[in-house]
Amino acid sequence: GEAIQIRAEMVNALIKKHAPMCMRQLGQTLEERKHLKYQGRMQFGLFLKEMGVTIEQALVFWRRSFANMTDDKFTKEYKYNIRHNYGLEGKRVDYPARSCARIITQDTPGPQDNHGCPFRHYSPQNLSASLSSTYQLNSQQSSEILASVKAGHYHVACTRLFEITHKVQKGKGLDGNGESVSHPNRYFEKSWKIEHE
Ligand code: SF4
Repeated sequence: GEAIQIRAEMVNALIKKHAPMCMRQLGQTLEERKHLKYQGRMQFGLFLKEMGVTIEQALVFWRRSFANMTDDKFTKEYKYNIRHNYGLEGKRVDYPARSCARIITQDTPGPQDNHGCPFRHYSPQNLSASLSSTYQLNSQQSSEILASVKAGHYHVACTRLFEITHKVQKGKGLDGNGESVSHPNRYFEKSWKIEHE
């Protein structure tokens, strides 16, 4: 990604403004419940790493986000895994952020989970409700997205949401040349670029 210096206290606002729906849902759940389950922490944590959040800022972010937890529990049960994601523990692998294909096809979320891809894993009712509450889409925009989802074109649905929310002409995609969403971090970077260029 691009070299943006992201501090822990900037993360929530950046997610709301620039992240794709899968990551917005995780960020929102984390804010509301002060916790995320393991797969959610993996999906969101690796995304933050690729956004450019350093290990120091990631530890500050997660410690603050798990607001109802003692320092002792945080250190014992969570710190290792966060450091592990950055390649600082265990096998010392610098794990890549998960692509859309990875998120859509592996670690399918159960009913109590918040990770995964909303276009792939939500019921049409929940997706429709989230599209209007989170993005204020009108019914025509929602139906268009739901039709892509029904056809199994999740990346088309996600790309269309990007276009609508960034006032990009239909079909122009992430880069103005029809690029469709294949990775949550590319979505973030293109959204950032539109605002900052
Ligand atoms: Fe996230 Fe990719 Fe699904 Fe979009 S298509 S919500 S970026 S997993």
